Formats: sequence, structure tokens, C-alpha cells
Amino acid sequence: MTDVVLTKLKKSFGPIDVIHGVDLDIKSGEFVVFVGPSGCGKSTLLRLIAGLEEATSGKISIGEQDVTYVEPAERGVAMVFQSYALYPHMTVRENMGFGLKMTGHDTAFINERVNKAAEILKLDALLDRKPKQLSGGQRQRVAIGRSIVREPKVFLFDEPLSNLDAELRVQMRLEIAKLHNDLGATMIYVTHDQVEAMTLADKIVVLRAGRVEQYGSPLHLYNDPDNQFVSGFIGSPK
Ligand code: ADP
Ligand code: MG
Repeated sequence: MTDVVLTKLKKSFGPIDVIHGVDLDIKSGEFVVFVGPSGCGKSTLLRLIAGLEEATSGKISIGEQDVTYVEPAERGVAMVFQSYALYPHMTVRENMGFGLKMTGHDTAFINERVNKAAEILKLDALLDRKPKQLSGGQRQRVAIGRSIVREPKVFLFDEPLSNLDAELRVQMRLEIAKLHNDLGATMIYVTHDQVEAMTLADKIVVLRAGRVEQYGSPLHLYNDPDNQFVSGFIGSPK
């Protein structure tokens, strides 16, 4: 089981409190979407779970383990960045295998993992290309592939589709939903796109100024928002 549990989690940057004591219980295998206005702390919360920022206080558990002060590579999580973070001078295969290479895995192991991920993402025929020889959607798939090769229990996505055009966003949304189905991993996904949130999420977390304003299923938040702030993000009038 890979529940992600945040307990009284706080984060300050110098004198500025950004995350104000978040309690959140994400069940194993769930697709949870964070929404909220720019600057409310969505990325910071994701980075805290990934271990890219250290908590000021509180606790983060992944599975049975308290990972609050555990190194990112030891947490069993992988962050999916936007596709522009690919290395332009490396092939698709090298981009996807780079993280494993850095953590000391041998070529046979890396190739096996990359081939498996490429099959899942339909990138088999493109492994020798450089990023500039790929379409936007293919590039985003490579960015996802870099996480899949690590076979994480928890995927973290920070607005992965925001630099794609509308048509491609819809297509990639479907692919991410399929990926969630196929892998059964816990996924935590930040977006400012309401439709993306409503269609992908098992649960939505509405964040406001570093606090959880409401947490529930899309239907629950749509039918019974606690307040106008929540309905503003979910799209039903109240
Ligand atoms: P969101 O992703 O919801 O737009 P962020 O998590 O990026 O919000 O940022 C939340 C707040 O924390 C913002 O006010 C931002 O300026 C601040 N912040 C984020 N990272 C840092 C940092 N490294 N140093 C100082 N302030 C930061
Ligand atoms: Mg952000």
C-alpha cells in the first residue's frame, strides 16, 4: 500500500509561511488533483512530497515509511516535469535512462526499463531521435517516460500539459488517465485546468493560501462546495 499522508505539514521560506499546516490522506492508487490560485502553494506541496523542499515542521509518510527527512531518490516517488526539461543533446533513450544511469544502474538494466516504458508510451520507434525531432505530445511522453523507468509507487505531476496546445492537452489527458489505469500507481497532479481536474481526479484538493479549503470527489465538490471559493474552482455556482 502506498498511501501518502501529510500531517500538520508546514513550510516557510525565511519569514514567509507558504504551507500552513496541511493534513491530507491520499489513498494508495488514487488520482488526486491539486487546484487553487497561482501562488497558493501547489508546487511547494508537491516538492515537499518529492523531497525537493524540506518541511519546516510536520510529517510526510509514504506507504508505511516516515519520509519527512528522507532523500528524494529513496522515497519511491517520481516527479514529471514539463517536456521542455528534456536534454536536447540526448536521444529519447538517453533522456529516459539518464536518471537510472546517475543512480549507478548498468546498461542492461537501463535498457530493459527504457524498452518497457517505451512500449507503454508507444515510443518504441522513436528511441534514437533527439527531442527536436519529436512532436509536442511525443516530447511530453518522453518526459513521463523518464519517471516510469524508475517504477515509482507515487507519480507527481506539476502542470505537465500547460505548455501544450488545446488539442494535444485533451489527447495527453486521456493518455495519463490510461497510464493511471495500467500502472495502478498513486498519482498527485497539479493543474489550473478545471476540465482536466474534473475528468482525471478521483479526489480534488482545493488549496487556498497554503491551506486545504476542501477535499473530496469531483462530484462531491461540484454538488456540495463548502463555499464560493471552492465552487469558483470547480465550476458550479453557489
Ligand atoms: P503555486 O504552485 O500554487 O502557484 P508555489 O508553491 O509555487 O505556488 O508558491 C507558493 C508561494 O511560495 C508563493 O508565494 C511563492 O512566491 C513562494 N515560494 C515558492 N518557492 C519559494 C522559494 N524557493 N523561496 C521563496 N518563496 C517561494
Ligand atoms: Mg506551481
